[in-house]
Amino acid sequence: MTANAVATPCPTMTERSGVERPAAAPTAAPLGYLTPHYEIRLCRGATGCPNALIDVRSVGELVREAVEASGWCEHLAERANRPLLLHQKFRAAVAGCPNACSEPQIRDFGVVGWTQPGTGERACNQCMECEAVCREGAIVVEDEPHIDRERCVDCGACVRACPSGTLVAAQTGYRVLGGGKLGRHPRLADTLLERTDAAGVRAAARAALGLMRQREARLGEILEREGPEPLCGALSNCPGPVGPKETQ
Ligand code: SF4
Ligand code: SF4
Ligand code: SF4
Repeated sequence: MTANAVATPCPTMTERSGVERPAAAPTAAPLGYLTPHYEIRLCRGATGCPNALIDVRSVGELVREAVEASGWCEHLAERANRPLLLHQKFRAAVAGCPNACSEPQIRDFGVVGWTQPGTGERACNQCMECEAVCREGAIVVEDEPHIDRERCVDCGACVRACPSGTLVAAQTGYRVLGGGKLGRHPRLADTLLERTDAAGVRAAARAALGLMRQREARLGEILEREGPEPLCGALSNCPGPVGPKETQ
């Protein structure tokens, strides 16, 4: 069930001579689950990317279980007397960090790992590594590091870079996205749950699939037409606030 196809190598032009030569090692297709009824892409965090903040494989399996338990495959199979269109497939992606390499923003359902940095008890040595590594300009070090929560995207890079252990992972969890799609009317996914846990991911996946079955439409189309209200009831019981990031 795991998809990991290998692309055909294409010739490339060298910069110096313009001579065509085969590309270096072909890149493998994204990891994940590929079935006739759903697709769940996993980022390279599943195979050891050092930026991964969550267990990408486990979350992918969690989403797969939620899809299977929801009756989604049976629902689509019932349509066998009608042609099953490619866009009717449920598309999900799991990304190990906010870099979002598996593109959860353009899937029906997405999960992104995050780590909120905080300060622990160990003293800062003013090495400035955290300032240097933060691509968002979210840290200023004076006597100790100060983090601008509005700028911070919770990538955890400063925590990994801090040699003294002053910066620590205050919290790690999942951001759940929904309603992204490409096609004739492309749409970036909305944030369904900003800070949640595995139970929230499972519940949100089931809620999204249930709504898609009921309305016979992509989640993005439903959110576009009706707003988030049809999901709010189910999501209000999930751990973590519904909607975009809180900065306080
Ligand atoms: S999303 Fe993050 S963890 Fe996943 S492959 Fe990209 S950088 Fe690595
Ligand atoms: S978590 Fe990432 S974005 Fe936030 S302060 Fe650290 S390095 Fe910057
Ligand atoms: S990386 Fe750690 S020790 Fe260095 S300035 Fe930042 S908080 Fe202080």
